[in-house]
Amino acid sequence: MSKLRFEAVVEASKRLPIAVQAPKKQPSEYYGKLVFNRKQMAKYLSKETIKVVIDAIDEGVTLPREIAEHVAAGMKMWAMEMGASHYTHWFQPLTDGTAEKHDSFIDYVDAPGGDIIEKFSGKLLAQQEPDASSFPSGGIRNTFEARGYTAWDPSSPAFIVDDTLCIPTVFISYTGEALDYKTPLLKALSAVDKAAVDVCRLFDEKVNKVYSYLGWEQEYFLVDQALYDARPDLNLTGRTLMGHESAKNQQLEDHYFGSIPPRVAAFMREIEFEAYKYGIPLKTRHNEVAPNQFELAPVFGETNLSIDQNLLIMSLMHRLASKHHFKLLLHEKPFAGVNGSGKHNNWSLGTDTGVGLFTPGKTANENLQFITFVVNTLMAVYKNNGLLKASIMSAQNAHRLGANEAPPAIISVFLGSQISAVLDKIEESSEDDDITVDELQKMKLGVAHIPEVLIDNTDRNRTSPFAFTGNRFEFRAVGSSANCSSAMTTLNASVAMQLIEFKKEIDQKMKAGMKKEQAIYDTLRLYIKECKVIRFDGNGYSDEWKEEAGKRGLNCETSVPLIFDTYISPQSVKLFESIGVLSERELHARNEVKWETYTKKIQIEARVLGDLSINHIIPVATQYQTVLLDNVYKLRGIFDEKQADELNKDDITLIVDIAKHISGIKTNVDAMVEARKVANKIESEREKAIEYHDKVFPYFEIIRYHIDKLELIVDNQMWPLPKYRELLFIS
Ligand code: ADP
Ligand code: MG
Repeated sequence: MSKLRFEAVVEASKRLPIAVQAPKKQPSEYYGKLVFNRKQMAKYLSKETIKVVIDAIDEGVTLPREIAEHVAAGMKMWAMEMGASHYTHWFQPLTDGTAEKHDSFIDYVDAPGGDIIEKFSGKLLAQQEPDASSFPSGGIRNTFEARGYTAWDPSSPAFIVDDTLCIPTVFISYTGEALDYKTPLLKALSAVDKAAVDVCRLFDEKVNKVYSYLGWEQEYFLVDQALYDARPDLNLTGRTLMGHESAKNQQLEDHYFGSIPPRVAAFMREIEFEAYKYGIPLKTRHNEVAPNQFELAPVFGETNLSIDQNLLIMSLMHRLASKHHFKLLLHEKPFAGVNGSGKHNNWSLGTDTGVGLFTPGKTANENLQFITFVVNTLMAVYKNNGLLKASIMSAQNAHRLGANEAPPAIISVFLGSQISAVLDKIEESSEDDDITVDELQKMKLGVAHIPEVLIDNTDRNRTSPFAFTGNRFEFRAVGSSANCSSAMTTLNASVAMQLIEFKKEIDQKMKAGMKKEQAIYDTLRLYIKECKVIRFDGNGYSDEWKEEAGKRGLNCETSVPLIFDTYISPQSVKLFESIGVLSERELHARNEVKWETYTKKIQIEARVLGDLSINHIIPVATQYQTVLLDNVYKLRGIFDEKQADELNKDDITLIVDIAKHISGIKTNVDAMVEARKVANKIESEREKAIEYHDKVFPYFEIIRYHIDKLELIVDNQMWPLPKYRELLFIS
């Protein structure tokens, strides 16, 4: 049963920080304790087995069955020593979060009915068949092939949660199609590795592998558990569907980097202890811009592992928040009028020779390589700006992008003045400039000086959705609740494709007799011109930019269901198919899931909004109106008509206002219900999502307007839902 507002406010106001037992050791001593990492492997597996496993991870080849048996045996021994009794394949279906089904290690020694033994075979480690028919598949699995398989991903180590050994896996259909986020991600990572190695070898023959790195910054809100329980909208949709702005919110800019409230600090400390046990190198914690908004971020790591760690930490945060009597909100926009939450994806590529490909180098050769990778990334983002937007879009993130105080739903790249100047110089230099490569890089471009200058590169543009920040790009449009895989698959795939095309061009030019450096330089010059429109260093929040971006031909679509169309455009299908990341069939299936999910989210919100309007708000408003009416009548009993009218003037205005807002709510809720009925009859998932977006969703704001007005009129004592000023300030 939902709580009453005043009960909840009192309960929340009495809360004290929960005492957190600090581990007696330094983090380095218990770091990774719950993970079957290389250190643990060394204890439980033979040298030969470890070598095969590591080679398989590095080369991306399949592990032989007998090796899987050895690994399973070692892993089981470790897990049981750690107190685990169960295991699960831990996978990432196309829903929010992860999925798991726990099985115990026990089995009969011989025949059924006899003694039991703990067993865990290579087969169970390598592959499972969860009854997965209720995960979204976009129609890929029809009934006769309803099974899905999970298969072990050895590149992400197994870990233990409570009594369960969790084994990261991919999730695919009987016919081999991806039903999850991880499968296409692994394919994109391998594509970018291969494509980038080929390009790196133009500069350094010794490069054999290129890693994609990700450092995410997780933003989140916390609200007190009791207040959360008194808000059915937060409970059921993850965001407040109504609520008048608090008189004070973020306008004083006093929350960002402010001192962390003790209750929250205790929560953060515990998260860190837990994270270190899982080998998640949390580094940063601070308040964010909005009240009750916070952030944590680890040191970056390999993209696949970093994503698994993000998913794990999101679930750890949920659990620990409850312990501290908080509710964790990962929704991209839980409160109107204050900032929403994102998850900046700091992304870079680096070689096995230890070179960061977005880090300016010391030699001319390294700098040309650096510029090559920057320009190719620009090209990739330029060509696929609509697709990259689709990769981060969701019903929730739509509130954050394109809304008043957030980045627009347009992807552009911020480079900063130094790199921009370098690119401008390359662009301006003419083809017959007979300059040596050495001159070219050291003098004309000034590239050799970049390292020193970049150190105080302070003009970081917070409004850009995709920004160069010294040694990496920061994809900031990713939503706080999202699985980063979607963005990372698309970005790495786009860059892979671009690098392949670049290499082809260089090869052709060299075949035609051009020197290598000249070919590179020539090609870069063309690219810089071609993708110039993606560069924007100005204020991304401004209206002028929206207009300008449209003129530049960038994708400015704001309707979520239509943004998803980009995934199945001929260009995107070609991109994903040609580098083997996703087939056309998979792309269509996944879009079905996206449209369906969008529809369901809006549908749930519409229902909750309707219910709250009719059952919570209107009755209370009517009750208060009755109080006022009562007063009016009583005054008439005491005073003569003229005096009474004079005294009743303000109450009567309020009574009329309340009536207007009640009627505004009622009429629009009715109309919204009708619009929903029409939408629900539509068969096509795409059309239905469009109908929900165009015809149902617009009522939300109108209904909310009337409710928020009533919140200001109705007696504070009567108002049923915790107000923003109560929800948003943890002491
Ligand atoms: P800010 O808020 O200033 O952007 P943070 O310190 O909060 O910075 O987060 C920056 C993130 O970027 C961290 O996760 C950090 O490890 C990561 N990062 C730093 N260098 C790289 C890199 N070369 N590649 C990928 N991520 C990186
Ligand atoms: Mg950042």
